[in-house]
Amino acid sequence: QAKAHGGAQIAFFESAMGDAAEQRFRIDRDLRQALVEDQLRLYLQPQVDTSGRWTGAEALVRWQHPVQGLVSPGVFIPIAEESDLIVSLGRWVVTEAMRLIAEQARAGRSLPLSINLSPRQFRQPDFVTWMQQLLAEHAIDPHLLTLEITEGLVIGNVEQTIERMQALRALGLHFSIDDFGTGYSSLAYLKRLPISELKIDRSFIQDVTRRADDAALVETILSVASHMGLKVVAEGVEEPAQTQFLAARAEGVILQGYFYGRPGPAEEWLARWAADGSLPALPALPPR
Ligand code: C2E
Ligand code: MG
Ligand code: MG
Ligand code: MG
Repeated sequence: QAKAHGGAQIAFFESAMGDAAEQRFRIDRDLRQALVEDQLRLYLQPQVDTSGRWTGAEALVRWQHPVQGLVSPGVFIPIAEESDLIVSLGRWVVTEAMRLIAEQARAGRSLPLSINLSPRQFRQPDFVTWMQQLLAEHAIDPHLLTLEITEGLVIGNVEQTIERMQALRALGLHFSIDDFGTGYSSLAYLKRLPISELKIDRSFIQDVTRRADDAALVETILSVASHMGLKVVAEGVEEPAQTQFLAARAEGVILQGYFYGRPGPAEEWLARWAADGSLPALPALPPR
């Protein structure tokens, strides 16, 4: 089977179909089939603190294509986002994440997960009530679920977005700003959003120990986060020197990247974490 590789997959769709529009059409059509035939897979990537202790994981979707093998989200998410397909796909991801959290909870273990939320999914009229129902159905602690959004979600819809975020926050869910620093938003809106976390984009981490401008940007983000009481996750950590840089400047920073583990099938990571005691015991529910 073809190994996961964005470039090769795009090339396949191109050579098979011709122009870009047809290629999009084909991916769109196959992806609808994928939802029906259960071809989506949830991968997890660990997050750790500066002493290397496991703190949680990000859920990243993959597509197990019958011919292509494993297709990465960079290939199909942008196409899914052009239609309501992203809503069905996003629902599958949320449901699967909750199922995993519930499964671990039944075994007495706590699994904090972050999932990526697409703007179209967030803007579905019934999104808040749908989330509320699903949380109740799976009986999970909502604090274990973090919704990653991007800066672009806020632009143009500030009041409506904040209102909806507050409703979801009131359910106990957390928000994180993904790829922080790459959007065109101003710092002014940060204080108005009910967020718990900033994720520093990988592009700033990559050369943080080699480039003074990246170092300055990362230091600024760490400082803003600290002053605002926000948790910080650095994505794309590949070298110990990057962790040293971050740990020297922010005690509580959380690290995610190939250095600590690549995204892998949820079942595989979970079996490993359960075996090595990474997953903390679920706190006893408070009396009600
Ligand atoms: P993201 O949310 O910023 O996720 C981080 C991406 O960086 C992931 O790519 C991850 O595999 C990759 N990564 C992690 N550590 C390293 C590292 O050390 N080095 C390098 N070079 N890369 C690293 P992936 O899994 O291909 O996902 C790409 C994007 O697709 C995600 O970026 C996210 O925007 C989107 N995506 C993934 N799953 C979902 C989903 O369920 N729903 C939605 N709406 N979008 C998703
Ligand atoms: Mg993300
Ligand atoms: Mg990210
Ligand atoms: Mg990113």
